[in-house]
Amino acid sequence: MQRLRELSRRVEAVYGEMADIYAGYQQARGLHCRSGCGACCLHPEIEASVLDMLPLAMHLFDQGTAESTLAQLEAAPAGTSCPMYQPLSFDGKQGQCRIYQWRPTLCRTFGAAGYRDKHGKTALSTCKTIKQERSSAYAETLIAMELDPPPMLSHARQQVNQLDYELSRSSLPIAEAMQAALRKVLFQACYSEVDIDQQIA
Ligand code: SF4
Repeated sequence: MQRLRELSRRVEAVYGEMADIYAGYQQARGLHCRSGCGACCLHPEIEASVLDMLPLAMHLFDQGTAESTLAQLEAAPAGTSCPMYQPLSFDGKQGQCRIYQWRPTLCRTFGAAGYRDKHGKTALSTCKTIKQERSSAYAETLIAMELDPPPMLSHARQQVNQLDYELSRSSLPIAEAMQAALRKVLFQACYSEVDIDQQIA
């Protein structure tokens, strides 16, 4: 359990660095998300790895709610949008993340980030809402891309994955990744208890 806890701390440390890099770039370029916008969270294909969800799983375990959360996730229908999203408007596009502090890597790049297009050139990944509502900032950012390149989506993924390639091997729908992370933590906790009991005996 100690190894898993240490790994979780290291993922959180990388998440802290990502906040400076990605949110910093978005703020500086005026391409940050509109307050309360949850349109991306409604997308049914948000993916995460088990490693991405480890800090949240560890937090829920420490709070004593890992088992009940796992049961809720297992009972929920598959293929829907993120179960951690709380819609606050009729159309669901306004809302909030219930686990903002522990959200996974992909969610930390929402807003604006770079990727390589099919010609290998750096392109900007930005949502439709930002393109429409911040059209001047978007146009200026495209013009400035060579001098002020965006932080890359792949860099964020690499920074996390390098901490544990096994737990970051697969990208899963976020609810499945969450369940797998909770099972991992609960199994490890159970195994650690047996180990301690055997040492005492
Ligand atoms: S984890 Fe939070 S930010 Fe990410 S999709 Fe779910 S609700 Fe949205």
